[in-house]
Formats: sequence, C-alpha cells, structure tokens
Amino acid sequence: AVEARHLVKHYDQLTVLRDVSFTVDEGTVTTIIGASGSGKSTLLRCMNLLERPDQGELAIAGERVSFGDTVGDASSALSRARIQRLRASATMVFQQFNLWPHLTVLGNVSEPPVRVKGMARHQANQIALHYLERVGMAERADSYPAFLSGGQQQRVAIARALAMEPRVLLFDEPTSALDPERVNEVLGVIRDLADEGRTMLMVTHEMAFAREVSDQLIFLDEGVIGAAGTPKQVFDSNNERCRRFIAPAA
Ligand code: ATP
Ligand code: MG
Repeated sequence: AVEARHLVKHYDQLTVLRDVSFTVDEGTVTTIIGASGSGKSTLLRCMNLLERPDQGELAIAGERVSFGDTVGDASSALSRARIQRLRASATMVFQQFNLWPHLTVLGNVSEPPVRVKGMARHQANQIALHYLERVGMAERADSYPAFLSGGQQQRVAIARALAMEPRVLLFDEPTSALDPERVNEVLGVIRDLADEGRTMLMVTHEMAFAREVSDQLIFLDEGVIGAAGTPKQVFDSNNERCRRFIAPAA
C-alpha cells in the first residue's frame, strides 16, 4: 500500500534521512522507533508531503512520485492536485491533536471532506458522525475542543483522519502529550483500527504497545534504518544501538 524508496531529506547542512527504504503492506501496521532526533517525524511528514523529500521515491495507493535528480523536475511535476490526492490518501494524527478551536467536534471531523473532497455538508456530517461513533465521541459532537480532555481530543483527531477514508493512517506519537491515565483510551482505539485491518504507519515510544500491534518494526538511527522486521526480530536484533535503545523496555 505504501512504499518509500531511497528517501533522502536535508535541512540545510543537516542530513536527516539518508537512503531510507521500506514497504507497508496493505492491512498491516508498521511502527517506527528510535531516539529523539533520529528523523522519525521527518520520515512520517515526508510520507504525506508535509515535508518534501530531496531524493527518492514514494508510492501511496498506486500514486508514484519521485524527487530530486530524476529526469524532469519533480517539484514542477508535483501539481497541487496531486499533492492533495496524496495527502488525502495518507492522513496524519499529530502528537498535539491540532484540532481547530473555533469548530465543534462535528465541524472538525466533517471539514476536511468538505474542503478537500468537495463533499456536500450533510454527507460529510453523516460520515463524521459515523467515525465519531467509532471512537466513542459521538455524544460530544456539539462540544468545542477546549472542553474535552486530551484523550478525547485525540480520539476526535483520529475520527478526523478516518473521515477522509485514507488508504493509510499516519500517527506521530499520538499519546505523548497525554496524561498517563488517558493513554490507554487512545491506544485502545488504535488497537481496534489495527484489528480491523487498517494500514497504519506509526511513531511511538510505547514499546509494549508497538510490540503487540505491529506487523513490522523499524528502528531508525540517525536517519538510517538500523534494524527492521517483525517485533520479535527487532527486539532480538544484534544491532548494538538497537539493543541499547530497546533494553529498558524489553
Ligand atoms: P523526537 O523523538 O524528538 O520527536 P524525531 O525522531 O521525530 O525526534 P525529527 O523531528 O524528525 O526527529 O528531527 C530529526 C532532526 O531534524 C533533528 O536534528 C531536528 O532538529 C531536525 N529538524 C527537524 N525539523 C527541522 C526543520 N524544520 N528545520 C531544521 N531542522 C529540523
Ligand atoms: Mg518526532
């Protein structure tokens, strides 16, 4: 469903991703782990073009884009419409929820399909309610984000990502900003999505959870994949830096 080939990303002099390649199969969960600053968020943001890779190739739901030194300038070939299509097929859930404070819960979830897909409001509201139900937040449809707990806000953010009916869901540390007692309600929703066969690419520091739900684990180390495979393979990896990273959780 999702493929990254030889991705390279620099910020000025700093090379954050160096030749990163991986595949996320349809209906599977891949989790990226690694130390702070190893490039996890950058990699995730590249997957829906919130960041533009400098080199390499991305394929999401059959849409293939290449960057950098290919024939024909990739940036000019990447039309706004194409970027929007890619973003719509890989929607992101952020650490800080990023809900729109001036919109109700229902408004937050129904806005993207209206804005991006040009869907009629009443239809978008129906879809929004369906996914709010799915994350247990339908009763709060008329509330404003400020009146919700962090865990509730994050569940709304997940419903918002689902309302675009994407091919892959991207999660960047979805529970890191939550009070400890709120973490499980969000992990529970993500676990349900995994169980129903959603394709997901996630960054998390919740190692036990990652081990439990992931089909594939990727250890990112200074912009390079240091180890990858099933959770068992990565937990048993003989990559020294990977072992050291995982040790406290194993
Ligand atoms: P964390 O676990 O702390 O979230 P991360 O693995 O997600 O870390 P990134 O946020 O991808 O790491 O950052 C990787 C490196 O790129 C870091 O050195 C960071 O300072 C740098 N970086 C990230 N975004 C930018 C940017 N917009 N401009 C310049 N440097 C950046
Ligand atoms: Mg990050």
